[in-house]
Amino acid sequence: MFRDSKVRDYPLSLRHRDGHVTSVLYNASVYRDEKGNVQGVFAAARDVTERNRAEAELEKHRHHLEELVKERTSQLEAANARLEAEIAERRRAEVSAELARVEAVKEKNRLEAVMDTLPVGMAILDAQGGNVRSNSAFETIWGGPRPETRSIDDYAHYKARWSDTGRPVQPEEWASAQAIRQGKTVVGQLVDLEGFDGTRRVVLNSAAPVRDSDGRIDGSVVAIQDITEIRRMERELRQSEERYHSLFNSMTEGFALHEIICDGKGEPCDYRFLDINPAFEQLTGLKREDVIGRTQSNLLPDEGQRWIKAFGTVALTGVPTQFEEYSPGLKKHYEVFAYSPSPRQFAVIFKDISERRLAEEALRQSEERFKVIASSTPDHLFIQDRELRYTFVINPQLGLRVEDMLGKTDHVLLAGEDADRLTTIKKRVLETGETVHLETAVTPLRGERQVFDGFYVPRLDAEGRIDGLIGYFRNITERKQAEEALRHMTDELARSNKDLEQYAYVISHDLKEPLRMVTGFTGLLKERYKGRLDAKAHEYISHASDAALRMQALIDDLLAYSRAGRGKVSEPTDVADVLNETLKNLAISIAESRAVITHDPLPTIESNPTELILVFQNLISNALKFRSDRGPEVHIGCRRREGGWLFTVRDNGIGIDTQFIDRIFMIFQRLHTREEYPGTGIGLAICRKIVERHGGRIWVESSPGTGSTFCFTIPDAGKEQ
Ligand code: ADP
Repeated sequence: MFRDSKVRDYPLSLRHRDGHVTSVLYNASVYRDEKGNVQGVFAAARDVTERNRAEAELEKHRHHLEELVKERTSQLEAANARLEAEIAERRRAEVSAELARVEAVKEKNRLEAVMDTLPVGMAILDAQGGNVRSNSAFETIWGGPRPETRSIDDYAHYKARWSDTGRPVQPEEWASAQAIRQGKTVVGQLVDLEGFDGTRRVVLNSAAPVRDSDGRIDGSVVAIQDITEIRRMERELRQSEERYHSLFNSMTEGFALHEIICDGKGEPCDYRFLDINPAFEQLTGLKREDVIGRTQSNLLPDEGQRWIKAFGTVALTGVPTQFEEYSPGLKKHYEVFAYSPSPRQFAVIFKDISERRLAEEALRQSEERFKVIASSTPDHLFIQDRELRYTFVINPQLGLRVEDMLGKTDHVLLAGEDADRLTTIKKRVLETGETVHLETAVTPLRGERQVFDGFYVPRLDAEGRIDGLIGYFRNITERKQAEEALRHMTDELARSNKDLEQYAYVISHDLKEPLRMVTGFTGLLKERYKGRLDAKAHEYISHASDAALRMQALIDDLLAYSRAGRGKVSEPTDVADVLNETLKNLAISIAESRAVITHDPLPTIESNPTELILVFQNLISNALKFRSDRGPEVHIGCRRREGGWLFTVRDNGIGIDTQFIDRIFMIFQRLHTREEYPGTGIGLAICRKIVERHGGRIWVESSPGTGSTFCFTIPDAGKEQ
């Protein structure tokens, strides 16, 4: 109390002397002076006994009430607990329902997201096959706005054909229709569809039924995959593979794929064949089964390290290479191209150039030979390019030198007229590619006209295009001059021969008349003065008449000679007939001399038969006339000879001294006296004239004592010999 200065309603029990107790509430406060010193205490006590009793009573009631409340409360609590449990249960159910709903929404969103991002067309269909939901890929594949689809019947609007047969797809054949109607899952129908925008696509169409909780079919899910691009790529890939394969198999170059083998230090030390093509087998003579999987060191030990080094670099660096090599193992020259298709591998494409090498070598040798030949020929050789500039010259003509000509054209080197003419011809050779044979006269800038004979030949480059021309010409100026002189002489000779013939004819003709008079009058002298003249006079008269007769014979022969060889020489003549006729004419002398006459088979030729009879007649009668002591044997031979026929009349008579064999063909030339052998010496001259008129030649091969063979040729019509 002193501490707090006050006490309020402090309960106290006051025990009275009688022993009862009074309950009071004691209140007191301290009384202090100005300085704070306690002066005294004010105290009061209030009796609360009754109140306490009432309170105790109340307490008792309250307690009872409390008991009641307690009981009720526990009852309530039990009910409450039940209720709370129920509420909690319901809450949980609500939460999980909410969760499920959220989950379902999520699921739906997910599904939609999946559907919309899938590159596969997806559609969800109801139990009738009507469209419930489809994704954008589905719309794209079908090409834009589709007609309303409420049932399978509406599928008729969807145009498509089966890829394999091309037959239109019927509505009930669609995978979705089968899923809905038969509960089938159909996977991968291959279909060519025509979208509603007209685009065509190849698709794989699949569908599966969707069932409700009772297992009844409630719809279907359709997946449609556009494989147009894949198919195109597949096709392209196949084509490219086929192309590669056909190239691989049909290329004439050898192809081989290898892997490089390295030693411990990573240096290439060998390689292994992985694949080769048929050309490889042909070019190397190695068989596929002997090559694949083998290494170079094992298969071609002679090749050494060169190829391994070269190819190793290609395989390891990827830098392609190209070279020509001789393979001692395969004994061939190869042109090789190597590249690396993938790391540590290399492919080699090569061709056999052995032939080209041989050809090059042959070319080199032939060029060498050509140079030797060209420099020893008297001919003028040159090459001109397409602009007709001389690029190569051997034996230049017309006083020009090689160095004058190289790089120049004819217009610089020749007179304008010649240059124009030759250039025109040369241009034609360059344009047409034809070879031109030419004989031409060219006048040099200084000096005499020269004549050349030769060719312009087109010159071809490696591709066969005309890149210039080659000329080779012979200077035939001298020959031309000689020919000219000869022709002149021949013409002259022919003319003088003609004159002579005419002359001989006229003379012999004109001489006949006075000769007849001489013979006539000597005859008259002989008859009329018979016995009136002395013997000497008669002898002179007789000489005169002999001479006149001989002269007559000579003149007749001369006439015969000048007439001979005037007939046509191109009648078909059976020489056997000719010979028969001849022998008929000679029948008497043949019989007299008992000659044996034989002959080869005889042809039909072009000649003059009457004149040919004359030739045979002269030769055979000579053979009989100049016979030896042996019985005469005459053989008429005949042989085909280039461009005509060779006839021979061989006898076993007296023969002719070689020194006279030319003379006997001349007119009136004889080797014997008339007494020894009669004759005038005109026969062989006539033979020669006739044979030469036929374009042939006549000669004799003989040796005295053994016999003679007279030979003559008759060329085929139109040819000279
Ligand atoms: P001919 O017979 O009138 O003497 P030819 O011109 O026929 O004149 O003959 C010239 C000459 O050639 C003959 O005189 C003769 O010396 C020689 N001769 C011709 N044919 C023969 C022959 N078959 N054998 C030997 N000599 C011949």
